[in-house]
Amino acid sequence: MDSLSNLIALVPAPPGAVIYRRANDESERIELRDARALFEGGDVLVAHAAFVAGRLGTRAPVMLFDVLELFAFVRPGIPFVPSALGLARALGLSLPHTPEESAAALPVIARALLAEVAGWPEAVRVSLGPLVGTLERAGWRWAPLLKESVGEAPHGSPIAGLEAWRGLTPWEDEAPVGQPGSQIVEPAEARARLQQLVGVMRPEQGAYADAATYAFGPREQAGAPKVALVEAGTGTGKTLGYLAPASLWAEKNGPGLWISTYTRNLQRQLVQEIAHLWPDPIERAEKAVVRKGRENYLCLLNFEEAAKRTALAPGQRTVALALIARWISSHTDGDLSGVGFPAFLAAYMPLSTVTDRRGECIYAACPHYRICFIERAIRRARHASIVVANHALVIAQASSDWLGEDETTDTPTEKEEGRRLRYVFDEGHHLFDAADSGFAASLSGREMAELRRWIRGPEGRARSRMRGLEERLKDLIADDEPAQEAMEEAVQAASALAGEGWTQRLGTNPRGPGELFLAAAYAHVRARSQDEAFYSLEAEPQPLGQDLLAAVEVLARGLKRIAEPLARLARLLRKKMDDKSANLEPYTRARLEAAARGLDRRAKAILPAWIQMLETLAHGEVPDEFVDWFEIVREDGRDSDVGLERHWIDPTQPLAAAVLAPAHGALITSATLRDTGGSDDHWASAEVRTGAGHLAQPARRAHFGSPFAYEDQARIFVVGDLPRRDPAALAAAYRELFLASGGGALGLFTAVRALKETATRIAEPLAAAGLTLYAQHLDRLDTGALVDLFRAEENACLLGTDALRDGVDVPGRSLRLVVFDKVPWPKPTILHKARRARFGKGYDDLITRFRLKQAFGRLIRGPEDRGCFVILEGATPSRLLTAFPEKAPVKRCGLTEAIGDIREFLREGSVTPAPTPLITG
Ligand code: SF4
Repeated sequence: MDSLSNLIALVPAPPGAVIYRRANDESERIELRDARALFEGGDVLVAHAAFVAGRLGTRAPVMLFDVLELFAFVRPGIPFVPSALGLARALGLSLPHTPEESAAALPVIARALLAEVAGWPEAVRVSLGPLVGTLERAGWRWAPLLKESVGEAPHGSPIAGLEAWRGLTPWEDEAPVGQPGSQIVEPAEARARLQQLVGVMRPEQGAYADAATYAFGPREQAGAPKVALVEAGTGTGKTLGYLAPASLWAEKNGPGLWISTYTRNLQRQLVQEIAHLWPDPIERAEKAVVRKGRENYLCLLNFEEAAKRTALAPGQRTVALALIARWISSHTDGDLSGVGFPAFLAAYMPLSTVTDRRGECIYAACPHYRICFIERAIRRARHASIVVANHALVIAQASSDWLGEDETTDTPTEKEEGRRLRYVFDEGHHLFDAADSGFAASLSGREMAELRRWIRGPEGRARSRMRGLEERLKDLIADDEPAQEAMEEAVQAASALAGEGWTQRLGTNPRGPGELFLAAAYAHVRARSQDEAFYSLEAEPQPLGQDLLAAVEVLARGLKRIAEPLARLARLLRKKMDDKSANLEPYTRARLEAAARGLDRRAKAILPAWIQMLETLAHGEVPDEFVDWFEIVREDGRDSDVGLERHWIDPTQPLAAAVLAPAHGALITSATLRDTGGSDDHWASAEVRTGAGHLAQPARRAHFGSPFAYEDQARIFVVGDLPRRDPAALAAAYRELFLASGGGALGLFTAVRALKETATRIAEPLAAAGLTLYAQHLDRLDTGALVDLFRAEENACLLGTDALRDGVDVPGRSLRLVVFDKVPWPKPTILHKARRARFGKGYDDLITRFRLKQAFGRLIRGPEDRGCFVILEGATPSRLLTAFPEKAPVKRCGLTEAIGDIREFLREGSVTPAPTPLITG
C-alpha cells in the first residue's frame, strides 16, 4: 500500500495534464511535455493507458499502473465505463467531476479494489496465486500489490492460472424442438400481456401492440408472409409493444422467434426490456438468448494457443490474456463484444487472434468443443423462446440457405433446426444497409489473401494456429488417394491468389494472376479517379485497358482451377461419410461434415461469384440488377485494399427473397420508416427500403406519432451566416454553440478531416471552461466506449461521424444539443449514382431526410428532455426540414442569434417563448 502512496496520478487536461500526489494531497497542472515524460516513465497511476497516450500524443509504456486493469482483474465480467468517473460509480465512491477530482480519485479507486481482494475468503485468494505469479513474471505492475493478499504460489506451468477453460461446464445436447406451430395471437391477449408488463398502458402503445400482432398470425399461403410495417415515434414504447405479442406467440408455438436489431446499443436495451417478461434471471437466461456472428465469440482453442505462445513474455499481451482468463471464469457467455468484456484490452492485442474469424474451427476435433462458447450459444438459441440477434447475422444465415450453400457460419445442426419463421426487425430502417453489405461480393486483395491462407495455411513468417487444408485434413484422407490428389491440386492452384504481403509487392513486383490483377486494377483506379488521396478511390470498370483485360482473363481461369478440386474434394468427403456411415465415429463424422461444408462454401459460392464478376467484366455486360466498380480502400490516408466490388442496386430484392418470403411473419418497425417529404405516399419509401414491396402479399401498415411535446421540448436552427469552407469559422461555431449549451453536446460531421480539425481547435477552450471533449477518430476508443464516457458525464462534448448519427441513446441532460456541420447529403459514389438512376431523382432527398431524422431522434429520448438541433448550413433546402417532427419549431437565423436562443432555451427552469416556426411539417 505504501508504494501506492508514492505514486503520482495523472489525468489529461488540455493543454497538458493534471497530476495528483497522494503523499501531500496536492494536485497541479503540468505542461504536455512534462506529462509525456512522466507517463512514458511508467511510474504513474492512470485510467485507460491507451486513451491517455492518445491525449498526450505519445505511446503507452509497456507497463504502468492502470486502474482499468485492476478493476477487470478484481471484478471480471462487471460492466464499467472506462474512466475514473465510471470506476468510482461502479465502486460506489464519491464521483469526480473535474480533472483534479479525477486524479485524486485514482488512488482511492485502487485502494478500494485492493482492499476488496484482501477481504475475500482465503480459498479464493489462494486460488488466484498462480495467475498473479504469472502476471508478476510478465511484469504487471499490480501483481506485487495483489500478492500481499493472494500470497506466493509455487512456480508451476508457464501458463499457470491462464487455463480458465478448466472451470467451464460442458453443454448438453437436447432433443430437437421441431417446427414452430401456427396458433393465433389475438390482439386482446397482446393488450392484456402489455398491460401486465407496463402497469399503466397508454392508448398509443396498446394500438401499437394491436398493429404488431398482425405479424404473428398464421401464414395463409406459401411464400406470402404476414408482414407489418409499423412506424412508432420515439417514446411510444414499441419494444414492450411488440414483446407482448411476441412472447405470447413463443409460448403458444414454441421456439423460432428472432428479434433482430442493427445496433449493439438497441440489442443491449432489448435485453434489459426482456427482464420485464422474465424477472427471474435463471428463467430469463433460458428463455431469451443473444446470438451474434461467431467472430464475436472467444475461441478457447485460439485462446489456449495464444496463452502458450505468449506466457512469460513481459508485456501487455500477457496482461490481456490474463484478464481474459479472469473474464472467462466470470460465467460469461464468451461474447467479446458484450457489455461485461473489458473492451479496452483491444489496445493490447488484436482480439481477432482469439476469435474464430477465418473459418478455422475444427469443431468436434477441438479439445474444447464440449465447452465451446459458440457451440453453447447455438444450442441455447435453438431452445430459447426469443433469440435476440442482429440484421447481419439473420441475413448471413438466410442467404446461405437461399444460395443453396450447405452452411456458412454455423454447425450443421444449426441449419437442420434453423427454424427462423418469425422475425421482428427493430431499427427496420437499417434493413436496406444491412442487406447492401450482406449480399455484396468483393474480389479484393484482402479477400483473396484470406482464401489463400485458408487453403495453403500461413506462408512466410506469419504465426498462427491456422494450418491450411493439408494440416486440417491429412488424417481424415490418409487412406484416400483421390481426395489427396484433389487437395494437392487445390493447394497448387491457390498460388494464383494474392498472398501474404501483397500490398508491398503491388507497385514493384506483383506475383501470380491475383496480384497482377490487383496491380492493373490499382493503376486503372489511379488513372480514372480524381487525385483526392485521403479517402477511398473508385472508378467505373469500363472501358478496360488491355493490361487489365488480360489480367482479368488469366485470373478467371486461375479461379476456376481452384474451384474444381475444392468441389471434388467436398464430394469425396461426403462419399466417405456415406460409404463408412455404419462405423464412422461421431467426432470423425462431424469433422468430415465441417470440412465438406467449408469446401462447398468456397467452391460453390465465393469462387463462382468472383468468376462471374470477372467474366462479365471481360464481356462488358454487367447484369441489370448489379453495379460493379473498382476501388482502392484507404484508411487514415493510406492504401489498405484494392479490388473489384459488386453490389445489388436494390439489395432488398435478395432480402425479400432470402429472408422475408420464406418466413411466416415479420414485424418491421422503427421510429423512421416513412418519408413525409417526397411523394404523397409516405409509405412508398418504407416499401422500398425494407423489401416489403417485393412480396407477394402487401404489408399491413400502421403509424403512431411520438407522445413528446416537441413544441416545448425542442428547437431547430438553420444557421445561415457561416462562411463556407472556412475551418476556423466552423470550429469557432462549434466552440460557441457548445459553450452556450454548457456541454451535453454532440457534434456530427460529414467528413473525418473537418472533425479532426475542429477537435484540435476547440479542445483547449472547452477544457478551460471545464468541458471535456471526446472525439471519434482521434481518441483511441471504440464508438461504444466513447458514447459510454459521454453519457456518464452531464457536461461532456462528443464529436463523431456516421456511426454516432444513429443508435446513440443518451436520455436526459447529457445530450441537449446536436450540431451538424452541413447537410448530410449522400456521397455521389458509383453505387449511389446507380441507385439514384433506379429510384429516381428524389432519392438524394430521401436519404438525407432519413439522416436528419435519425440524428434528431438522438436528442429527445424522454418526456423531460429538452434539446436543440443545429445545421450549420444556410443553404439547407426547406423540403428537407419535413424530416423533423411537425411541431418542432424551426428557425433560420444567424449564428449569434442561434447561440442566444440556445442559451436561453436550455437554461434550467426557464420558460422561453418558442421562436416563430418558419417551417411546420
Ligand atoms: S470448437 Fe471451434 S470455435 Fe470452439 S473453441 Fe474449438 S476451434 Fe474454437
